[in-house]
Amino acid sequence: MIKPPRLIAWELTRACNLSCRHCRANAITELDSNELSTTEAEHLIDQLREYGKPILILTGGEPLLREDIYDIARYGTDKGLRVVFATNGTLVTPDVARRLKDAGIKRISISIDGSDAGTHDDFRREPGSFDSSLKAIQYIKDAGIGYQINSTVTKRNITQIPAILDLAIELKADALHIFLLVPTGRGKEIEEDEIPPEEYERVLNWFYDQQKEVSIQLKATCAPHYFRIMRQRAKQEGIKITPKTHGFEAMTKGCLGGTGFCFISHIGEVFPCGYLPALAGNIRQQSFKDIWENSKVFNDIRDLSLLKGKCGKCEYRAVCGGCRARAYAATGDYMDEEPYCMYQPGSE
Ligand code: SF4
Ligand code: SF4
Repeated sequence: MIKPPRLIAWELTRACNLSCRHCRANAITELDSNELSTTEAEHLIDQLREYGKPILILTGGEPLLREDIYDIARYGTDKGLRVVFATNGTLVTPDVARRLKDAGIKRISISIDGSDAGTHDDFRREPGSFDSSLKAIQYIKDAGIGYQINSTVTKRNITQIPAILDLAIELKADALHIFLLVPTGRGKEIEEDEIPPEEYERVLNWFYDQQKEVSIQLKATCAPHYFRIMRQRAKQEGIKITPKTHGFEAMTKGCLGGTGFCFISHIGEVFPCGYLPALAGNIRQQSFKDIWENSKVFNDIRDLSLLKGKCGKCEYRAVCGGCRARAYAATGDYMDEEPYCMYQPGSE
């Protein structure tokens, strides 16, 4: 039986006030007149709630550019969903933070892509955006909303990741999520900024070590082979992976795209994730449930026997499975092998 998704990222708008180097959305400056209306948004929430109880991540673009953002968030909250929010932080004021709190937003993610203003502002291509993010964090804390820091790892900031972790701890963030760059959208233009596979391996091993050292919640996102590394390291250490030893990550797997997670675009298209442009359907034409349960792309991704190359032979494929978006970006086939993994199946 196919279970409803647990997590849905919903790109409420593609419009954004920034034009960051790594933007998945290839964000535009103006609101698209074709984006889902308030009524369509509410209808979608009704459908999602009838089908399951996913955590709803309101994202963009910059979702604060939509005037009805508080109404949509409130609607989701009133329907019993946990609604969280992703923003670049530059438009958050004390009033905005208070209104997000009133709309029932439970957690906000703010992007910090450098430990200093120079690196972050260069990445975001906006002088002053680092300071804006720090101010936003203060406003969010003052409003009493939980928050996490999201950082995209590239060659530009790889040496600063430990300092970003220190900053997250100093700022008393609830969590730090590191995102491994996926070269799609505007990220395609900075493919050369993607760290090589051996660096991935090193960063993810460092991340594993930090999990034991710090009390802040850490998560490596879009790095499915972290779940292989976690198992390899636990084996070396002679320990069993349990929620007690490895927290939430003991109960989940590398990539949830298509199995526990999906992405809905500003015009209602449904994809396994925001980085994989393999269209599963559009909620303007089909019900969400029909798309989730019957589309070819979701059913392909759920079938591990369709994995190709070394991911298809890998003993870790059920917990890792590789990134389908990186495979698609490299070869045009989303079931192909993950191109950024060092592991040779069968070598242990
Ligand atoms: S396919 Fe890749 S980019 Fe998409 S959710 Fe999975 S790991 Fe992340
Ligand atoms: S070969 Fe594929 S499934 Fe195996 S660890 Fe690497 S990315 Fe994961």
